[in-house]
Amino acid sequence: MEFEVNNLEEIVELIMKKMSESSISTSSNSKNGVFENVDEAIAEAKKAQTILFSSKLELRERIIASIRDTLKPYITELSELAVKETGMGRVADKEIKNRIAIEKTPGLEDLKAFAFSGDDGLTVMELSPYGVIGAITPSTNPSETVICNSIGMIAAGNAVIFAPHPGAKRTSIRAVELINEAIKKAGGPDNLVVTITEPSIENTEKIIANPNIKMVVATGGPGVVKTVMSSGKKAIGAGAGNPPVLVDETADIEKAAKDIIAGCSFDNNLPCTAEKEVIAVDSIVNYLIFEMQKNGAYLLKDKELIEKLLSIVLKNNSPDRKYVGKDAKYLLKQIGIEVGDEIRVIIVETSKDHPFAVEELLMPILPIVKVKDALEGIKVAKELEKGLRHTAIIHSKNIDILSKYAREMETTILVKNGPSYAGIGIGGEGHVTFTIAGPTGEGLTSARSFARNRRCVLVGNFLIKLLIILKRKSSENNITPSFSGASISCSSRSSTLSVLAPFTLSK
Ligand code: NAD
Repeated sequence: MEFEVNNLEEIVELIMKKMSESSISTSSNSKNGVFENVDEAIAEAKKAQTILFSSKLELRERIIASIRDTLKPYITELSELAVKETGMGRVADKEIKNRIAIEKTPGLEDLKAFAFSGDDGLTVMELSPYGVIGAITPSTNPSETVICNSIGMIAAGNAVIFAPHPGAKRTSIRAVELINEAIKKAGGPDNLVVTITEPSIENTEKIIANPNIKMVVATGGPGVVKTVMSSGKKAIGAGAGNPPVLVDETADIEKAAKDIIAGCSFDNNLPCTAEKEVIAVDSIVNYLIFEMQKNGAYLLKDKELIEKLLSIVLKNNSPDRKYVGKDAKYLLKQIGIEVGDEIRVIIVETSKDHPFAVEELLMPILPIVKVKDALEGIKVAKELEKGLRHTAIIHSKNIDILSKYAREMETTILVKNGPSYAGIGIGGEGHVTFTIAGPTGEGLTSARSFARNRRCVLVGNFLIKLLIILKRKSSENNITPSFSGASISCSSRSSTLSVLAPFTLSK
């Protein structure tokens, strides 16, 4: 091989390009990142990760930009496919979720280095990749989670193998294929993002056990979170929730009613963050119900019909998957009630012990529990959230109640005076994620959650906020540094460090 280059960086880049080309030709069993065999998929992903890790950060930037550009035209296709395949959710809402995953998942900007500098020198904390990550994804946000995890994991320098929910495999595989096309367009390595043709619990277990998997990330119900947390590997667990929404007498009731119906009906209540039960203060509950009915809620009052609905949607006290993520209109039809498309949520007054309030139904059935005041409401909300510490919502203008609720609930997300989806960046500030890690504490995951924190220590040098005169003592010239700070940047080609240094030297 002849090199017409004369600097080391260019040589390394050329070698990487050659390695990348050879990996394209050798990985014949993969079709756009989709493999039949788990171990082969992981081996190829490992090769791709080595290439990414040894390439400039600029390559990661290019790949992420290309994922955003390439996937945008496929938002409708992915959303329609998910509804068709899983039989759950609403196309228009899935379009919003896919769009926001593409546009608002943070990239490399999320990976800030941190430095300590002092008399003993300079220490830099850098965020570095794990290697190949095994990511288990749910049926409720199949393509959204694949997109969002891929962007964050690649930004941090990793490769990823997805273990999708078997009930959403076509949608998840399609998202992986599109991401592979995007990576190829950006000049990135093949098989940086891979998956398998036949997802199953057995294959997921193989992925978790493979020695080349250095981190496992599970987004789903309690079973899978427990599995990854007991794997003995670095694990991120993003589990179930049962988000309560408290409404007190000081709230803007018209707005609260509108926001609650919008949040609860979003994608037919599939998001783990969506309002699952209302706790309302006695003095405003009737007005709240009246306003909800104006915004697409159907009030189910007949005791027999409530029992019938319960017996249909719950099987052995767990939600029957046949009814998860179905429209309110469809659910009402099962009990003989015909309504129009404007009905998006079924509301039912219940006690706090009713299964509609206790179970995470993932259906647009919203129980309303009456309490005498906000303080009792906080207790009930805490009980119904069951210590999952996931999401809670409140509508109130009383700052003491807002503050007490936030403190007592201890949830990863707390939304005040807005719909639940504001908590994941839809109509609320902040980045989006579809992996909300309550049990393991990362919270709303982003690139930095998928990175290892490493410390690099340089002893006794590179300290520029102090004038160190090597040959003469400063006191001989009567020079005293002043203590007013100026920000000084010290840059190499790849990183910049800012420290506070004195403005002047005064005699
Ligand atoms: P699910 O738990 O049935 O499946 C999730 C994933 O885990 C799938 O890929 C499935 O194949 C796998 N899985 C399930 N049990 C497993 C086991 N024992 N071993 C290995 N793999 C296993 O969840 P779902 O119905 O697809 O999604 C809905 C659930 O996920 C709800 O509880 C919801 O709250 C939760 N969820 C949480 C978040 C979050 O960010 N916290 C996001 C989306 C969904």
